[in-house]
Amino acid sequence: MNAVCPLHGAPTRVIGVSAKRFDAVVFDFGGVLITPITNKVQRVAERAGVEVETMLAVLMGPRHESGDHPWHRAERGEMRVADIQGLLGPYAAAAGVELVGDEVDVLLDATTYDKNMVLIERIESLRSEGYRTGLLTNSFAEFRPTLAKDLDLTMFDVFVDSSEVGSRKPEPSVYATTTSRFGVHPSRIVYLDDFVQNIIGAEREGWHTIHVTSPVAARTELDALLTA
Ligand SMILES: [Mg+2]
Repeated sequence: MNAVCPLHGAPTRVIGVSAKRFDAVVFDFGGVLITPITNKVQRVAERAGVEVETMLAVLMGPRHESGDHPWHRAERGEMRVADIQGLLGPYAAAAGVELVGDEVDVLLDATTYDKNMVLIERIESLRSEGYRTGLLTNSFAEFRPTLAKDLDLTMFDVFVDSSEVGSRKPEPSVYATTTSRFGVHPSRIVYLDDFVQNIIGAEREGWHTIHVTSPVAARTELDALLTA
């Protein structure tokens, strides 16, 4: 690329500058690369006769803040998934919800989600276009074998699992850890997630974001962004 030096008016050659606006594309797992596990909350919410949002808050804790709810603690690797259900009593009582006792199992039943191939297939092509790829997931240590079976983790240059790093979205440090593993400026990262609070956390870190409401629309938005 040739440019004119503003001081001397002579042409200068700019080398080593990437024309790309971004270096890395990072994906969330649930609700992005697979159908949302929260779809399944509808079943247990209907059974209990409460709204989905109410059941979600009981089982998975408050969405917009990360705290001491057992689901959050398990996602930070602080306790076992098997112990979540037994600790939900006070949360259920406070919300006026009666639990049967299998709600966490229903939510985590791996046989009832589908892969969003339209986005999974895009990961390989991103690499061939020179982008680095990442997976940033709030997950449990116990879920890792399922994750590794369902997804070829070698597709990702950077893989951050909340239960491994002891921090979960939308806590700031999990985004900072991801950025530092890429070793790029935060503004060079594009992130796709289906939860608004995780998008807000990513934007606080300085990432560019795509809020995923449908896999096809998200892929179209990603392609448009990368070619802009
Ligand atoms: Mg998600």
